[in-house]
Order: sequence, then C-alpha cells, then structure tokens
Amino acid sequence: MRIDLHTHSARSDGTDTPAQLMAAAIAAGLDVIALTDHDTTAGWSEVAAHRPSGLIVVPGVELSCASPVAGAHAIGVHLLGYLFDREHPAFRAERVRLRASRFGRAEEMVRRMRAAGLPIEWEQVQEIAAGAPVGRPHMALALVRSGLARTVDEAFSEHLNHGNPYYVRKADVDVRDGVRLIRAAGGVPVLAHPLARRRGRVVGDDVIAGLATAGLFGLEVDHPDHLDEDRRHLRVLAHELGLFCTGSSDYHGRNKPTPIGMCATDPGVLDAIVGLATGTPPYAD
Ligand code: AMP
Ligand code: ZN
Ligand code: FE
Ligand code: FE
Repeated sequence: MRIDLHTHSARSDGTDTPAQLMAAAIAAGLDVIALTDHDTTAGWSEVAAHRPSGLIVVPGVELSCASPVAGAHAIGVHLLGYLFDREHPAFRAERVRLRASRFGRAEEMVRRMRAAGLPIEWEQVQEIAAGAPVGRPHMALALVRSGLARTVDEAFSEHLNHGNPYYVRKADVDVRDGVRLIRAAGGVPVLAHPLARRRGRVVGDDVIAGLATAGLFGLEVDHPDHLDEDRRHLRVLAHELGLFCTGSSDYHGRNKPTPIGMCATDPGVLDAIVGLATGTPPYAD
C-alpha cells in the first residue's frame, strides 16, 4: 500500500483537476491519496464522480490556521482535516469565512503591486484561480505569464513572500480551535509540515503538546520541506505525546516541483485515521 495524505487540485492552488490528480496518483503507483485543498471541499464531489476503481481517496482539507504568540505576530500554521462531515455548521462557516478573506487579501496585494509599478492584472489572477479560493500561487502564475517574474519560485521570493511589502495576511483560525472544529465535525486533525522552516517561523514543542491535549491526531513528519534532523525530532515528540506520524508529498501539480507520492504514510496509521473518523467514509470501491 502506497499512501499520500496531502495533495492539492485546481479547486485550490494545484494545477490538476481532481480527475487528473487521481490519474497522476494511479500513474505513480499509489493506492490511496487524500485530497486536501486549502479551505475548501469543492473537489470532493468530483472525486466521487470520477474516481478510478482501485484508488482510495480520503476527502480532506488543509485549513489556514495560526498559533498566537504573546507580543508578536501569530505564527501561520496549516492543519489537515480528514473524513469530517462537510455540512457541520460551525466548521463550514469557518471555511466560508477563510475563503472570503482570501479574496479581499489577494485584491489588496494586487493593488499594492500595481501602486508600486508592477502591472499585475486582477482579472488575470481571477482567471487563473477560476473560482478557487485565491492564493499566492495564482498571483505567482499571473506574474510569470505577464513576464513580471521568470518562475513561480522567483515570483514568491521577489514579490509574494511574508516580509515583502506587498504581502498581506489572510484570515485564519486559531489552530487550537481548528483541532476542536475538525474533531467536532467527526474528522481527524493532523498538523501539516510543522517544521517547514523556509516558510517562516515555526511553532515550538509546547504548542504541539497543547494541540495534542486539544485532540490532535498526528504530525506530518515526512514532508518535502522537512530536514532529516527535524523529522527525527518530530518522531520522538510524537511518541512522547501519543501522536501518530504521517508522510505526504503536498503535491501541487505544475505549481511545485514535488512529485505526487514523494513521501508516504504507513497503512496502520491510515487504519487508525479511518477508525477514529465519524464524519465521512473514504471514497473506495
Ligand atoms: P497562501 O495560501 O495564499 O498564503 O499561499 C500559500 C501557498 O503557496 C501554499 O500552498 C504554499 O505551498 C505555496 N508556496 C509558498 N511558497 C512557494 C514557492 N516558493 N513556490 C511555490 N509555491 C509556494
Ligand atoms: Zn497550496
Ligand atoms: Fe501547507
Ligand atoms: Fe498543502
């Protein structure tokens, strides 16, 4: 069994439709993938409609969260939620709020870039997002397509990264509330890439311990952005806190170089996730 529990489709900021994503999974020899688009479950019905037989798909989400820090900006954190009930009213309302905030935030980032003489077009950004919750990768592609950056990576490092004057924060959920909401909706919460340091500040062990108390299921230990020493540290920490360890690629299609299936999760861990969830069963034959 080869299991990849973190992928993005074009329903957020990946480039594959859910059908193409599932075809890519089969071509890579995977048996199970989770669909974890940012702040949306819009791809779930397409998975149900187009899933090739033999591939199991775990419906999920990657929720935009933050961990508060006294006297400083909160630390951005991503929380994976699996197999929850998408109709749960409070959780659904949070996703609606997060998506709405992304729209105003992207508009403001485009406005700032234009005011500084970088002629990115808001219409083009919206065309690229094609109705998905708009994110920085969509802005990066617009910059590349209009010749204002050579690559998506350069668009991020020159214009879109945290610390850049065009960067605007988006709304997020306190990560402890995120854990509780996912559990309340019958889902299983896993902290995504906890030590992806190149994205900015990361949370300390104390925060992760607090999340374990709040109902966190596991840590995404094997992730392309994690150093070997950080993976070792997270494995020890997970053991101490009684958390499970997952591995995933965080595949984004052509928006990132990472191939699907680059990191994987043990079958026993998937069994534990399915055993704990009460919201939505996996899509399977
Ligand atoms: P946002 O959700 O709008 O803040 O954008 C964050 C998304 O941008 C995440 O999915 C990241 O994986 C992606 N991202 C961050 N840095 C880069 C980069 N250098 N190249 C491609 N994607 C990136
Ligand atoms: Zn993304
Ligand atoms: Fe993430
Ligand atoms: Fe992701």
